[in-house]
Formats: sequence, structure tokens, C-alpha cells
Amino acid sequence: MSGSATCKYCDRPIVWATTTRGSNMCVDPNPSTRGDFVLAATGTVDGKVQFAVRRALDTDAPGRRYTSHFDTCPQWRHTAARRESS
Ligand SMILES: [Zn+2]
Repeated sequence: MSGSATCKYCDRPIVWATTTRGSNMCVDPNPSTRGDFVLAATGTVDGKVQFAVRRALDTDAPGRRYTSHFDTCPQWRHTAARRESS
């Protein structure tokens, strides 16, 4: 699972990317000054652009940084918290 999508919690656009450990992570599609992740297109599958994501390093050249949608989603934590307390 990778490429552009919509968050099922808040309906905002997100991008699914594959981490260096091979798991999936969703990030906000727009770069942010708060972001600490680097996103890179790795190719296309079935016409959909695939992305790899990793945490930005101090040694990286300045560039676009992205935030995890887990951190910015207005609903995600809300939903998770509700699930924990029930
Ligand atoms: Zn969301």
C-alpha cells in the first residue's frame, strides 16, 4: 500500500509511504517546517507513484520535510484514545 489516499479518520489527503523497515506510514502530502521525515518517490506501480519515507538526518541537505499524519490528524488520537478507554 503506497501512494496518494485519504485519511479514513479525518478525510484529509495523505500519502502512504514505505519505511526503511518495510512497514507503511502515512504522511501529510504538503511539506512542513515542523516535519522531520524525508519522502522520496521510488517509482510507479499500476500508475500510482510509490514513496519511501525515512526520518531526516542532521547530515541531510536542506530540503522538504514532511510530517507524519499520525501527528497532525485531528481525529486519529481521538479515535485511538476512545478505543483504549473502552
Ligand atoms: Zn487523519
